[in-house]
Amino acid sequence: MPERLAVSEHVDVLVVGAGPTGLFLANELVRRGLQVRIIDCAAEPSRLSRAIVVHARTLEVLAESDLADPLIARGLPLAGLCLRAGSELLMETRFDKLPSAFPFVLSVSQADTEAVLTERLQSAGVEVERATQLDHFRQHGTGVSAVVDGPAGRELLRAAWMVGCDGAHSAVRHGMNLAFEGQSYEEHLVLADVALELQSADVPRIQTWLAPDGICALFPLIGGRTRIIATAPAGLSEDPTLDDIQTLVDQRTNLRVTLSQMSWLSRFRIHCRQVSTYQDDRVLLAGDAAHIHSPVGGQGMNTGLQDAHNLAWKLVMVHGGAARLALLSTYTEERHRIGAEVLHDTDVATRILGLKHPVARALRDQAVSLLSSFTLLRERVTRQLAELDVSYDGGPLTFGDGSYGVGARIPDGPPHAAAQFTLLVPHPEHAPHTELLPGHLASGPWAPLFVGIYERYSDTVVLRAGGVGDRASLIRPDGYLAASFTSDEAQSFLIWLARWLR
Ligand SMILES: Cc1cc2nc3c(=O)[nH]c(=O)nc-3n(C[C@H](O)[C@H](O)[C@H](O)COP(=O)(O)OP(=O)(O)OC[C@H]3O[C@@H](n4cnc5c(N)ncnc54)[C@H](O)[C@@H]3O)c2cc1C
Repeated sequence: MPERLAVSEHVDVLVVGAGPTGLFLANELVRRGLQVRIIDCAAEPSRLSRAIVVHARTLEVLAESDLADPLIARGLPLAGLCLRAGSELLMETRFDKLPSAFPFVLSVSQADTEAVLTERLQSAGVEVERATQLDHFRQHGTGVSAVVDGPAGRELLRAAWMVGCDGAHSAVRHGMNLAFEGQSYEEHLVLADVALELQSADVPRIQTWLAPDGICALFPLIGGRTRIIATAPAGLSEDPTLDDIQTLVDQRTNLRVTLSQMSWLSRFRIHCRQVSTYQDDRVLLAGDAAHIHSPVGGQGMNTGLQDAHNLAWKLVMVHGGAARLALLSTYTEERHRIGAEVLHDTDVATRILGLKHPVARALRDQAVSLLSSFTLLRERVTRQLAELDVSYDGGPLTFGDGSYGVGARIPDGPPHAAAQFTLLVPHPEHAPHTELLPGHLASGPWAPLFVGIYERYSDTVVLRAGGVGDRASLIRPDGYLAASFTSDEAQSFLIWLARWLR
């Protein structure tokens, strides 16, 4: 007899995977009013520390929904990074000059990041459905039917959209028949979380040593513990011990420290892979399901969280009928490019850091030392690591010249609404960011724009006083500048806007 299949109510979005990407995406969708189910095949959340680096841009994004402070309360802010060869300091960079409200790198266990996101989701009335695994799915005109196996048996779950946040071995990606193109590195990495309070001159910082047979990096964790991550030397056991890690630290660093109380040890291979598209009609991918790469720079989880941040408002606006399907396509166009850049940069960094030939290493060390003496260059690398330089300039969702900052984030912009654009229009009589009401722009060069927006987009575009000089600025719901234009260009701007909004 065929197995009985429970058929669920239709929901707006099914999120597959409750890692950081899926949890944050679910939060972003729920706070904008969508009905979401989130499933995870694991019976319990993982307690492993895994991604411990949370960058400034991610904290800015989390702060939009008051999630940064609870996360910071569980972590340790790190103020800088040192690169050494033995006792020689090759480069030192500080995060406290970052142009952000969060001028540091937050060291916090991924288990804590997931706990903070889970608690917020619970407070919004959504529980992660655990021990529930996506088996397969099918798309039809108006939605997705997914067959999942959970504690109560097999269920047919119906949703208007499905997002695969189900990690590197994504069942959603397999179901989309997408190849995970790329390569795996020869080298293995080894990591250990141990009891070790690093005595640094002033503030906690990341310390990395470039040694002849590989790298060794030490990341301070909260509570007097340290994460050690190193390239595995030839001949290292498949199952390394604390003594093996102690030997690595003794040989590759100039620290004289004793490691103890190892809470996690892992040896793993690294990969560099990405899918060709993040969307097939009503099924989308985000996070490790779409891209994986070397952990150098700690970009993986941060990139996944920012995929979710980019996707959520677009999905909400398209699902609610406020925006055209074309807006959702910009998710792949924007985030695939950023993902490819992260893959490229981490690949180059991994290869340079892993150089073994003595001449190549000597040249590298000299170059690092020389380049780091240029303050502007050092600051640029630090901003890039913090993902503050991410820009959608040149992408489809931009109108106007990149020289006016189009595509970049607006750190001190007006309060941006969850699923509305903000249009800042020069208006000398009103304080910056004051909301403009009918009558405020009844005459003058901006009047036709005001009428065009007010008549057609009053639900999706908020008008406020502001702009830069004689230029108006359109800010996206995720805080990036989409357009910068003069009153002469207002008509073309309205035509461009009609490509995205209904
Ligand atoms: C040792 C290590 C150190 C790292 N350090 C950093 C760092 O410092 N900074 C950083 O940014 N990144 C780091 N990363 C990478 C980071 O851990 C990942 O990028 C991050 O976990 C990706 O999150 P995700 O939510 O996309 O996927 P995942 O965390 O992999 O979550 C996927 C979820 O989907 C679930 N799932 C899978 N298949 C199914 C299915 N069929 N049905 C239902 N559920 C399913 C899984 O149980 C899992 O909970 C590190 C990774 C490792 C391994």
